Amino acid sequence: MEPEPLQVLPEEWDRALAIVAHPDDMEYGAASAVARWTGQGKTVVYTLVTSGEAGIDGMEPERARQVREAEQVASAAVVGVDVVEFLGGADGMLEYGLPLRRSLSAAIRRHRPDIVITGNFRESFGPGALNQADHIAVGRAVLDAARDAGNRWVFRELLDEGLEPWNGVKAVLAAGSPQATHGVDVTDTLAKGIESLKAHDAYLSGLSQQMDPEEFLESFARMTGTRLGCTFAVSFEVFAFQQF
Ligand SMILES: [Zn+2]
Repeated sequence: MEPEPLQVLPEEWDRALAIVAHPDDMEYGAASAVARWTGQGKTVVYTLVTSGEAGIDGMEPERARQVREAEQVASAAVVGVDVVEFLGGADGMLEYGLPLRRSLSAAIRRHRPDIVITGNFRESFGPGALNQADHIAVGRAVLDAARDAGNRWVFRELLDEGLEPWNGVKAVLAAGSPQATHGVDVTDTLAKGIESLKAHDAYLSGLSQQMDPEEFLESFARMTGTRLGCTFAVSFEVFAFQQF
């Protein structure tokens, strides 16, 4: 079966906020697109809901938090992202619900982005590749928070914190979705994306199954490239609120 062709993702926007559950979530593909966008002069900010503190079996969470936050900041810098914030959610135990929606609405109001990026929140990444609970909770909440952020009467306490409504989100992009609709040509920036994944050194060396960042990202990007008509690409499922 021929894979579905992808549409070219529109790039007439200036500011993006990426909201993901864990350090390294952006680096499994989307970071190559971020490198392209920051290279065009766009601003991209990262918000991490957790610090990935439960992600290294051989390291206590208190220590892992420090290590993984530092690796995430270094990794973001590789693709031109200077602002990285951590919301302090509990790694592995995130729940979809009002507290998460409120906290993500606040982040969207603080940063006032045109585009919000998150990770795949479908049940799987494809046949046999189950998604993880935090990813599903965060992605769902991001989609709702992008709308909540614009409503003055939802989470009214945010007004008391000086966070005025923000109605400017044109679309939410979910990276790595099995229902991807759009693609971004990363032929020129894949190398940056690979370098940004390699910055998660402590995490990658703690994995029980070793993975080669270069081979992993290249093979996915090549497959996605055939769907977009270029050498390397990354894909996104687009949820558009406005024309963009
Ligand atoms: Zn993750």
